[in-house]
Amino acid sequence: MKLLRDGSLQSDSSQTLDPQDWDDIRAQGHRMLDDMLDYISDIRQRPVWQPIPDEVRGRFRAGLPVKPAGLDEVYREFADLIVPYATGNVHPGFMGWVHGGGSPVGMLAEMLAAGLNANLGGRDHIPVEVEGQIVEWTRQLFDFPPEASGIFVTGTSMANLMAVLVARTSVLGQDGRQHGIGSAGALLTAYTSRAAHGCVKQAMDLAGFGSDALRCIETDQCHRIDVAALRAQIARDRSIGLRPFIVVGSAGTVDIGAIDDLAALSALCRDEGIWFHVDGAFGALGVLSPMLAPRLAGLELADSIAFDFHKWGQVPYDAGFLIVRDGERHRETFSAPAAYLRRESRGLAAGSVWPCDLGPDLSRGFRALKTWFTLKAYGTEKLGGVITRTCALAGYLEARILAEPRLELLAPVQLNIVCFRYRAADPNKVNREIVMDIQESGIAAPSTTMLEGQLAIRAAIVNHRTDTCDLDALLAAVIRFGAARTEADAGSGRANLRQEALASPVAG
Ligand SMILES: *Cc1c(COP(=O)(O)O)cnc(C)c1O
Repeated sequence: MKLLRDGSLQSDSSQTLDPQDWDDIRAQGHRMLDDMLDYISDIRQRPVWQPIPDEVRGRFRAGLPVKPAGLDEVYREFADLIVPYATGNVHPGFMGWVHGGGSPVGMLAEMLAAGLNANLGGRDHIPVEVEGQIVEWTRQLFDFPPEASGIFVTGTSMANLMAVLVARTSVLGQDGRQHGIGSAGALLTAYTSRAAHGCVKQAMDLAGFGSDALRCIETDQCHRIDVAALRAQIARDRSIGLRPFIVVGSAGTVDIGAIDDLAALSALCRDEGIWFHVDGAFGALGVLSPMLAPRLAGLELADSIAFDFHKWGQVPYDAGFLIVRDGERHRETFSAPAAYLRRESRGLAAGSVWPCDLGPDLSRGFRALKTWFTLKAYGTEKLGGVITRTCALAGYLEARILAEPRLELLAPVQLNIVCFRYRAADPNKVNREIVMDIQESGIAAPSTTMLEGQLAIRAAIVNHRTDTCDLDALLAAVIRFGAARTEADAGSGRANLRQEALASPVAG
């Protein structure tokens, strides 16, 4: 672009970021779309995950690109260097941690959202109404009152933190927002179970209370919070002048999928005048499954629920959500008037409550669109069916483990998570090795957890693509690598057996 002597600018479309040749980018775009659809439809032919060669890692330590490269060249790098070394959670053999599988519908919706490039911080445009539609659907799903409010966030870690902040403001009021938690805040105590996710503790840290202000209450054998012990701890704390302000229940613990007695927690919180929040990261969407919904009784009584559409809901990452029963409390926690965010009665700045009044983010992406597409294109019945089926698959895996003398179940299977191990003389060491062996083999991707000092192989069945054959392949691999590991460790001169096991062709 050139500034002319008379002060005008010479127009020059080559200066924009749009292509000179739209036909070319259209053809390339169609190819990318076809390739990604092929990637998903043929995913079983790939290893679940594979170790990243140093050479590939090194390609991502390059200098800042100053000059343009051809799109085809960049795309080739994506295809060669990025696609093969992704997490693997699209694959049906992925059972590590709690990861959703995504869907082709969600993928297409993400593309459309990127095209609109909407900023969901606020203002009067339909994307904000789409998010409002999801808030309304979520409200119906959890049977919350009309005055409830909700917002998309990155994930449940963020949603749990925000819930702690809402509970804080509902006790300390605007004073707490302006002056900090101060000496009144230093007396506030929070409660959850020993089986709660680590982000609850982190939320207390980030909210300024310190993680010591969180009481981790013991659990029963099924990892559900001991409600009597909770009541006793609250009474003890009150007797020394502390102020209990929030209880965080779990609807699906991360280790084994335990669901706290939510109705009992709700009743206790009502008696005590304490905020009742539920971490339902994956479990809350169990309400979509007619089989699981009764086990979540009491969820509808929570003051707030944090959950992820990106886990059991199969919406592509990221799509966390917070819903708050009393929308006024929610707004009072986060709204912060600013001249440049002034609301008008008409025009683009219309609308009174904007999403930026409900959380710490101002600029936000259009997470609602992929969720809207997913809910509409599949419907809640089908999505609930997927959830029911993952639990049935966990039951299948459990039965196979119980029938196999070389394996041992380490926790009752309550939902979609199975914790077990290969029997060995040094089980923690051997099972840790087995999990790494399996991940590196590309056959499956379980993860591990510690249960009462025992290292468990943990299979969380979340992906809608997972089937019995994937569980069979997992168990076959556990037994194969377990045998190789224990024989190698026994020093029987057959240490290379593991090499043989590793070298044999990838099953499934
Ligand atoms: C996954 C998970 C979280 C964290 O959610 P993110 O979306 O990863 O931030 C919290 N609690 C439980 C029970 C989880 O399973």
